[in-house]
Amino acid sequence: MVSMTMNLKDETERPVDYYEILQSDRKASVEELKKNYQRLVLTLHPDKNAVGCDKSDASFLMLQKAWTVLRDPETRKLYDAELSCEEHSDLLLYANIDLKDMDYLESEECYSYTCRCGGNYILEAGSTDQIKVIIPCDECSFSVEVTCDS
Ligand SMILES: [Zn+2]
Repeated sequence: MVSMTMNLKDETERPVDYYEILQSDRKASVEELKKNYQRLVLTLHPDKNAVGCDKSDASFLMLQKAWTVLRDPETRKLYDAELSCEEHSDLLLYANIDLKDMDYLESEECYSYTCRCGGNYILEAGSTDQIKVIIPCDECSFSVEVTCDS
């Protein structure tokens, strides 16, 4: 079964994800971010690259930029807000629900929530370790945001 937690945006429209660049989780601590940053710097630093191509330079600059924004709690907070706003800007959110609001279908091993259109929001059990998941309706263009933190 295909995972329903897909990206709702076109790759080209997505804002730069600094967490992705730092290969870190959104919830990562500054220490974790720093560790990843330092590890990635070693692999990306232009001086360390025998073939100093533009691509590695760009990646290196992006890495610097990502770390600069995320190391500071204030700029990180602003960036988080911007990122979440960007990601949800074209989203038709039907509801914010908790995982426990969804029905667990034992035979399917997934959680289900009924949309107002009669369609379903389906979340496969164990398919995500994220705290918040956006699930699209299988019938219409609405989505629900599910909080799995419990
Ligand atoms: Zn629907």
